[in-house]
Amino acid sequence: MSLKRKNIESSLIGMNLDDFISIVTDFDEQKYRAEQLFNWIYKRNIQSFAEMENLPKQLKVNIADNYLFNPLKILKVTGAKSAKTRKYLLECQDGEKIEAVLMKEQKRITICLSSQIGCALGCEFCATGTMGIIRNLTVGEIVAQYLLLLKESEKPITNVVFMGMGEPFLNYDNVIKSADLLNNPDGINLGARHITISTAGIVPQIHKFAEEKQRYKLAISLNGSTQEQRLKTMPIAKKYPIDKLIESVKYYNNETRNLVTFEYVLLSDINDSELDVKRLTDLISDLPCKLNVIPYNEIGGKFVRPSDDKIKEFLGNLLNVPFTVTTRWSKGADINAGCGQLVVT
Ligand code: SAH
Ligand code: SF4
Repeated sequence: MSLKRKNIESSLIGMNLDDFISIVTDFDEQKYRAEQLFNWIYKRNIQSFAEMENLPKQLKVNIADNYLFNPLKILKVTGAKSAKTRKYLLECQDGEKIEAVLMKEQKRITICLSSQIGCALGCEFCATGTMGIIRNLTVGEIVAQYLLLLKESEKPITNVVFMGMGEPFLNYDNVIKSADLLNNPDGINLGARHITISTAGIVPQIHKFAEEKQRYKLAISLNGSTQEQRLKTMPIAKKYPIDKLIESVKYYNNETRNLVTFEYVLLSDINDSELDVKRLTDLISDLPCKLNVIPYNEIGGKFVRPSDDKIKEFLGNLLNVPFTVTTRWSKGADINAGCGQLVVT
């Protein structure tokens, strides 16, 4: 392995056991040292080499000279320590910035991770979409979000959702590798069903996810009850039309026996009518799925959040459908940390 690789691709956070084995053997150390390194970083969540008591000093010096430890640092925290939702502005090594969100409920602590800097898909209701795409995040930058927020959290993190900035399925390999590190029983050990990946509907990657029989939860941003409606708010619907999207979900159900969660951002006078409920019900009723209704968090654009009465009416019309319906009353909209509100300038 070439040395002097202190760039964003080479942070220790983000590497797996095989990478650590190749590092320690390069420095003429035995393989079990790699397991110790893995344990310090992912299980103990230490932040410096000084704390790695059982590693030889020279090995630590060699690694520190050649590899970056943590690729992110916290720039700003929004929300009081006691608040239910806190938003973290994080800086990458190249000066780019991302956001991650920590949410506390009674028993659950959920963190919302970013997978890209910006997003290429430009959904009209989403603040991240206005940024365009700057770049994919590395595995290290994704996992470091988790490790930094874990340090900030008073309780263990119980759930991770890839619902921050970016489209996870356009950074597929790094997102799956990150989920694998979060799930690794020798490290962070978060259950696969506690990790959710949300996609705007990148059909080939849904097929891939299904073929690989990934155990992570899959959420699909449907956000409309017809092709025309999706086209109005989500440009990606042109490339991957709603019928192909639904077909891919059927394939996923068949391959994995897992249900998907359809997310549905509720936009006033766009997709919140009784007819929408009917069309939506026809569209997804014969699929093993859940529906998560997300009342729109306003971002200053052309869309409006439906009134509370209208939201209740929409939910009321969904009372007798054959799938489970939940509502995401976004936490953190008051500090612009709600769904779709993450943006950096
Ligand atoms: N790119 C992925 C994941 C990030 S967005 C995706 O689109 O699925 C996470 C969720 O927030 C998606 O379901 C998206 O539809 C929703 N969302 C985006 N903008 C929103 C807004 N302004 N208000 C409420 N939800 C929004
Ligand atoms: Fe990208 Fe998701 Fe926002 Fe659409 S909703 S612009 S896919 S982050």
